[in-house]
Amino acid sequence: MIELFKIGFLTFTFVDLIDIALVAFIIYKLYTVIRGTIAAQIFIGLIIVLLLSFVAQAASLKALGWLLKLVSDIWVIAFIILFQPEIRRLLILLGRNPLIRLFLKSDEKNIADILTDTAFELAQNQHGALIVIVKSAGIRGVVETGEIINARVNKNLLRSLFFPRSPMHDGAVIIKGGIIEAARCTLPLSSETVIKGQALGMRHRAGLGITETADVISLIVSEETGGISVAQNGILKRGLSKESLKAELTASMQVSKEKGWKGLFEQFSKHK
Ligand code: ATP
Ligand code: MG
Repeated sequence: MIELFKIGFLTFTFVDLIDIALVAFIIYKLYTVIRGTIAAQIFIGLIIVLLLSFVAQAASLKALGWLLKLVSDIWVIAFIILFQPEIRRLLILLGRNPLIRLFLKSDEKNIADILTDTAFELAQNQHGALIVIVKSAGIRGVVETGEIINARVNKNLLRSLFFPRSPMHDGAVIIKGGIIEAARCTLPLSSETVIKGQALGMRHRAGLGITETADVISLIVSEETGGISVAQNGILKRGLSKESLKAELTASMQVSKEKGWKGLFEQFSKHK
């Protein structure tokens, strides 16, 4: 073992250095993933418990050590429960298969075009809309809250669905693989209420919220302003032009160019 230095009776080896660097890297990555969410506070709480139990052990505070050991024994279960949405997202990203998306590619341009046209027509009439496009794994739980449609993506159908006097106009439309799966779906709300000084209404918070827990892109047309936004990986972009909307949709539906871990981490660190 390559010995680096000694502190009293402790020897510090090269393996220890790698070990500590790895733990620091994992903790840092976890933190960037959940930064700005409520999970971050929980995460910091857990770190404090871990640090305390380390100190208690080192100072042989037996009673405190016992109490903290009790907490850390259920740590794993608590961790899974508290971070369920984040763990789910990580597993979805890990399980995403670029090969499958390669086969779906042919339709993408077409669908991005149809959705862009639809969004701008809806905006012109100041009809609000909320469309969620599923990129990899489906979101069955959300689809089940609405009405099943199962029709190919088509502009007039989407316009009818969001027509304000239509019984289906409330909530979100879910699109997967070129098929309108469902309408009137209820999405989880984001905890963000203000972005860059602008208050977020329910439609925008719902559109943003779903991208925090699932691998999707949301397209939001504001009823109030006719403005068009997209949300992805927990980030909302507002006031898009026709060109930028089309580019966003096409890019997000394409096979990710950076495959493997690099792409995964890049996508993950964008998540807020
Ligand atoms: P707009 O700019 O269009 O007014 P907004 O972000 O200000 O949008 P609201 O005015 O609050 O949002 O829009 C309310 C609409 O948002 C509802 O009619 C409903 O269709 C939709 N909505 C609200 N909550 C949800 C939810 N949890 N899931 C899906 N859609 C929702
Ligand atoms: Mg509003």
